[in-house]
This record gives sequence, structure tokens and C-alpha cells, in this order.
Amino acid sequence: MEKILNYINGEFKAPIQNNWLENYNPSIGEVYGQIPNSTSEDIQLAYEAAKLAFPSWSQTTLQQRSEILSNIATGIIDNLDELAKAESIDNGKPLTLAKSVDIPRASSNFQFFAQAITQFSSEAHESIGLNAINFTLRQPIGVVGCISPWNLPLYLFTWKIAPALAAGNTVVAKPSEITPMTAYLLSKICQKAGLPKGILNIVHGLGHSTGQAIVEHPRIKAISFTGGTSTGAKIASTAAPMFKKLSLELGGKNPNLIFADCDYEKMLDTTIRSSFANQGQICLCGSRIFVEKPIYDKFKKDLIQRTKKLKIGPPLETSTQIGALVSKAHLEKVKSYIDMAEEEEGGKILYGGDYVTVKSHEKGYYLQPTIIETNDTTCRLMQEEIFGPVVTLTAFDTDDEAMAMANDVPYGLSCTIWTNNLNRSMHFAKNIESGIVWINTWMMRDLRTPFGGIKNSGVGREGGFEALRFFTEPKNVCIQY
Ligand code: NDP
Repeated sequence: MEKILNYINGEFKAPIQNNWLENYNPSIGEVYGQIPNSTSEDIQLAYEAAKLAFPSWSQTTLQQRSEILSNIATGIIDNLDELAKAESIDNGKPLTLAKSVDIPRASSNFQFFAQAITQFSSEAHESIGLNAINFTLRQPIGVVGCISPWNLPLYLFTWKIAPALAAGNTVVAKPSEITPMTAYLLSKICQKAGLPKGILNIVHGLGHSTGQAIVEHPRIKAISFTGGTSTGAKIASTAAPMFKKLSLELGGKNPNLIFADCDYEKMLDTTIRSSFANQGQICLCGSRIFVEKPIYDKFKKDLIQRTKKLKIGPPLETSTQIGALVSKAHLEKVKSYIDMAEEEEGGKILYGGDYVTVKSHEKGYYLQPTIIETNDTTCRLMQEEIFGPVVTLTAFDTDDEAMAMANDVPYGLSCTIWTNNLNRSMHFAKNIESGIVWINTWMMRDLRTPFGGIKNSGVGREGGFEALRFFTEPKNVCIQY
């Protein structure tokens, strides 16, 4: 049984209290390892290491920093097979997905910020007529905290760590306790890549204790968090009185708006992915599907047919398209929404809704991809984040109706619009309440673009120079000559 260790000051360490948590393999529903149940004492140790490492790391040349980050990117790709398998076992996601998306993207995150930091510049303002020039220094913050969720474990963990390190900060980071394995493997890669000790410290444990200890630490000056909206609110309430810098990437309930003039086949292929990829456990999934009336019946029939064909199975089998959900507790939460759909929420289950027993993986957490038809945008299925392989399907008549339904949620992360009408595209792009709008595509990412949500989906933006701005403090210097 593999025991994961904390990575503090360049060394692998057991938690000070010697308490351990069980790590489950969701595809078989069994414990396969142990992870540290770290406390505030471990966070303090990590903080001290990071504090000690900060002065020299913040003074490394951009070229040196860039080279080390680039080495980490290469190290991730060199270990692609091992990391993808580990991610698939830890999370339940299909190995093919981990290998084609999660792990390559984790490498790209380091490669991208290795280059971005060499291109990052600051502003200058000449005060004409006053013989003065202002310039802005962009200085690293110091020790920062990075906390990430279980759905895209290494992908989202590195999305925070890479810009934090590139900007010259040192880091105390906590991956989700549910999927800690690839963060542990990353620490080994960082060691080999020549990252000096203390610069990145990875502490494993529970959110409400280990995570909370990072947020509460008075000298960890910025927190970059991705996770659920209620956790984000808790973090904000802890951090605000200490005036910490906060980046919060939270939940979503994203609309997928399909108009009759769209490229139908491309839309249908993409909609299958945007509905059920990673068992629907992606914050960007289009979980509310709205379809224009003239194509509603055809789309409904085709969506059901295509969904039926999705192969549910053991994540490590290459033919598997839908793996296991991440944990028993999460499986039951998702199922509880399906169970309330017809009796309490006035929906109609068009397909799916049942647990699935997978041969030789009988105790694994498998669920059918599920389609629920409903017209009631106020019902819980349409308002709350289910975060599983469940979509709602609703017909609309007019653009105004579609816009009103799309915006009628507390969330505002992303939106997908399928149409070939340019005016309509622009009208929706401008008026839809979300941080990201995809038109005739989904989850196409350019790492230079601002990433994040509005409303209850978060505060701040990640990606490109936005992330480097978050992880630096601007200081204006005014010189009169
Ligand atoms: P959680 O909010 O439960 O947890 C996220 C992370 O925060 C975990 O590492 C968790 O630890 C930790 N945590 C929990 N409580 C605290 C606390 N009080 N203080 C500090 N840290 C804490 O989210 P999930 O892991 O369940 O992830 C799913 C959610 O993430 C969904 O809502 C999804 O929409 C959102 N998400 C948002 C994205 C975005 O970019 N906007 C992207 C991906 C996911 P532990 O696991 O040990 O509880």
C-alpha cells in the first residue's frame, strides 16, 4: 500500500502528528494508499521553509527561473505514462483522458509560464509638463498558498503553482485529499528538475484542517483557490480580515445554447463531450442544454442515442469513455439529484439515472450518463451545481427567452453558443453573464486568455499575464527630474 508523504523544504516527510488518511481507488471502491492528515504544525513547517527560500528565489534571474520551470514541464512529459495512470487510478477518470488532456496540460502550464515570465512587463507613465516619470515595479508577494480540487488534479494544481513560482514567490500548496497522488509524484519531478529546496512545499490533508491552516496563516499573503462556491465563501470570510489577496475559481452551472442554424454534427459531437467528459466533473461542462424549438425533437432523439452508446467501464481500459465518479460520497450526492428529479422537481428522465455495475469492479462508483427534460428553470436541477454526468434539456422559442433562461442562475463561469448568425453571436457574447463564452466550440483553451467566472463562480482571473499580475504586487515609483 503506497504511503504518500508531504514535500517540505525539499524533503519527504511524514506528518508531525503521524496521522494518516485513507486514499480510495474509486474504480474499485477500495483503499489503496495512505496520505498525511497534516495539521497547522505541518503548514507552519512548510511556511518556514518557503519563507527561508523566498529571498534567493525572488532574486533568481528570469532565465534561471524559466529554465527550471521548463525542466519541470519536460519532467512531466517524460513521466506521462506513470502520471496518467496514477491520475486515472486516483480519480476514476478514463486513462485516455488523463493521457491526452490532464497530464499534457500540466506540462503546458509549466512550459507556458516558463516563457510568459520572460515576456512580462510593467507599466510606465510619464507625467508630461511636471517633469516626472512613474514606473511600476511588479514584485513577488512572498509566500503564497495554492489550494486545488479533485476533478482535474494535476492540471489545476500546476495551473496555480506554475505562475506563482514564475513570478518569484515561494509556495505552500495543498491538493485535494481525494486525489493527492499526482501532486506527490510532481514533488519528485521538481526535485529532479533542480527546483531548490523550500520553494515549493506540498502538504497533504483535509480541507477544513490543512487547507484552513493555509488560509488562516497570517503570513501567507495570497491564496489562489479553485473549488466549490461554499468553500470559496468560507475562505473569503477567513482571509478578508487579514486583507489577503484572493483568487477564487468556483462552481459553474453553464448553459449550452443550441440554435437551429448551427453546424449540427459538430455541435452534437461537442455536446456529448461538454455534457459527460470526465463524468461531467468539469467546472466548464455545459450542464444546462437549451435547444431552439425547430430542432428540439431531433436533437433530443440524437442526444439520447449518442449517450446510450457511451462506453462505461474500468478507467484503465482504453475503450472506456465514462469512468468512475471520484468518491462514494460524491456518487451519492449526484444520485440524490437524479432521485429528486421526477417526484420533487417536475423533470422527466429521458435516459440514464441508474448506478452501473462494472464486471470485476463491482464496488466502483459508476453512474449512467443522465438526461433530464425540464421546463422549470427555477428547479434545483437547473439552479444547483450537480457536478456529475447529468444534464438538463429545455426547449426555447426566441433569443430573448434563451438569454433569460441562460442568465437565470447564481453562477456565471462559462457558456457555449451554437449558431452561425454573427449578430446573434455578438449579442449573446456581450449580454451573457459569464466569464468565458465559447461560440461553436467548447473548452478550447489558449493559456494567454483570462480564465474565471462572475457571480457565484468566483473572483479574479487566472491565465496569462492575469495570473502573473495576481502573483505580484504593483508598486508605483514616481521620479521628478
Ligand atoms: P472543495 O471546495 O470541496 O475543495 C477544493 C479544495 O479546497 C480541496 O483541496 C479541499 O480539500 C480544500 N478545502 C475544503 N475546505 C477548505 C477550507 N475550509 N479551507 C481551505 N481549503 C479547503 O471542491 P471540490 O474538491 O469538491 O471540487 C469541486 C468543485 O470545484 C466544484 O464546485 C467545481 O465547480 C469547482 N471547480 C471550479 C473550477 C473553476 O475553475 N472555476 C475548476 C474545477 C473545479 P479537501 O479535498 O481535502 O476537502
